[in-house]
Amino acid sequence: MLPVTEKSTILLEFPPPPECSVMGWVLKREQERLRNTLTCVLCKSKPVEITLLPCGHFVLCAACSDECNICPVCNKEALAEVKTFLC
Ligand SMILES: [Zn+2]
Ligand SMILES: [Zn+2]
Repeated sequence: MLPVTEKSTILLEFPPPPECSVMGWVLKREQERLRNTLTCVLCKSKPVEITLLPCGHFVLCAACSDECNICPVCNKEALAEVKTFLC
């Protein structure tokens, strides 16, 4: 059994479907929340999918990262881009 933590509040608000494990369901909800939250800072329309290196900022969609060699958050040069999946 899961220990009773603050997370139990979330479970009470959104009862998980019985076929999912509780942890899997919590993770899935968290990923959906992140996906809804993270929108590319440049075009503000597409979901974020690229992590810039070496600074590590996760703020750009693939299309914008192609045209952007400088991180828009910290202005460091983006030496590499990593396609990042939230699932
Ligand atoms: Zn974009
Ligand atoms: Zn950065």
